[in-house]
Amino acid sequence: MMKGTKVNLTADEIPRKWYNILPDLPPGYPPPLDPKTFKPPPAPELMGLLSRLFPKECLAQAASPQSEIDIPDEVLEAYLAIGRPTPLQRATRLEKNLGTPARIYFKREDVNPVGSHKPNTAIPQAYYNMQEGIERITTETGAGQWGSALALACALFKMDCTVYMTRSSYLTKPGRKTIMETFGAEVFPSPSENTEFGKKLLKKDKNHPGSLGIAISEAVEDCMKHEKTKYSLGSVLDFVLLHQTIVGLEAKAQMERFGVYPDVVVGCIGGGSNYAGLSYPFVRDKLKKNMGARFIAVEPTAVPSTTKGVYAFDYGDTAEIAPLVKMYTVGHTFQCPPIHAAGLRYHGKAPSLCFLINKGIMESRAYNQNEVMAAADLFAKTEGFIAAPETAHAIKAVVDLALEAKETGEEETILFNYSGHGLLDLRVYEEYYAKTLKDFQATDEMLDAGLRALPKIPA
Ligand SMILES: *Cc1c(COP(=O)(O)O)cnc(C)c1O
Repeated sequence: MMKGTKVNLTADEIPRKWYNILPDLPPGYPPPLDPKTFKPPPAPELMGLLSRLFPKECLAQAASPQSEIDIPDEVLEAYLAIGRPTPLQRATRLEKNLGTPARIYFKREDVNPVGSHKPNTAIPQAYYNMQEGIERITTETGAGQWGSALALACALFKMDCTVYMTRSSYLTKPGRKTIMETFGAEVFPSPSENTEFGKKLLKKDKNHPGSLGIAISEAVEDCMKHEKTKYSLGSVLDFVLLHQTIVGLEAKAQMERFGVYPDVVVGCIGGGSNYAGLSYPFVRDKLKKNMGARFIAVEPTAVPSTTKGVYAFDYGDTAEIAPLVKMYTVGHTFQCPPIHAAGLRYHGKAPSLCFLINKGIMESRAYNQNEVMAAADLFAKTEGFIAAPETAHAIKAVVDLALEAKETGEEETILFNYSGHGLLDLRVYEEYYAKTLKDFQATDEMLDAGLRALPKIPA
């Protein structure tokens, strides 16, 4: 009889708790430092600023000693409404094409109205804000994946949403702007006339292309100036990673249904949220039961935080306001080349993920644009899915692992996060087929400049 290649969970089987890895981490996890004194903990004013920006419940979750945190019913309901639990599929056609004995499984985080994993945290963030009497949320977005996820979540909980979108994307990628507006969000090209910071930059250059750092500053300024308004971030923070663990918890139940356990868990890393979300429930087994899965995080060669950066305290933001966190970083002033995988351009990675890499519990690899797109092209032609350029980084690593398994003859079980579809990113496919797609590798000069700008922490 033919064995199915897809496992769906029913609504009743949706996980009811997120997994908080923090209490399970090995000893020695570095605490955040104050950005002025370079000492822990961050000054009370700074903690006050954080609670002005984020819902109390999210900050409490990030400090919780509990390894399991209840998902509120209203959040579960919204997860179900947009398509959770998501399917887990086996890529048998890709396996056959590669002639590999490896078995490849992928978790379908493209299956929701905005096509990426980002609603998994946008929904609880919007919900907790609503619970705490907040009426409007501000945020920034680059290519628009995060902005559209938050706009969707705000529509579901009837909240207002204001998005500062980098002007260059606003002009060249109007598709996601329209999606945000369809969900009722107000979208400004950043820098904008809406904030003092934006006005100042526009006075100097009325066609300023903007940057993610500038858009963050505008979203924070807007939040601080208005009552019943908070700010939201789509990656890097501990509570964001926590919310994403719904992905791995579902995947674990689905792998069990297939009767397998992964030998390798793979995902792309921008801030690290989709990969942490998939992998942490399996990392838990490694930490607690010494089970032997390997963990491989994949980044672009253009922003090689974990493969060529340093493990050091750095600013999480370009404005140097946020607490310093220890992470693999190429420096907060790093000038990122214009790669298509806009979601993978952050200078650092989530601190817990970096700690696991530093402890040798996780590994990482970096790939360049053209080899990544060759893998995405093969995936589309065999499996029929057009991947986001971010997701394509994971696919490239999976293809390499499957070919390594072919060499050794090992029947390796590979699991990866299909973090999003690429139907709104077709330019990168166009350029790849036209052979005009450029490769980018961070040069030693770029890395030196970024690392020189790291804060000098006294030993
Ligand atoms: C935003 C994004 C990423 C990168 O963000 P992480 O926080 O590292 O997950 C990866 N894939 C897709 C499709 C995205 O939209």
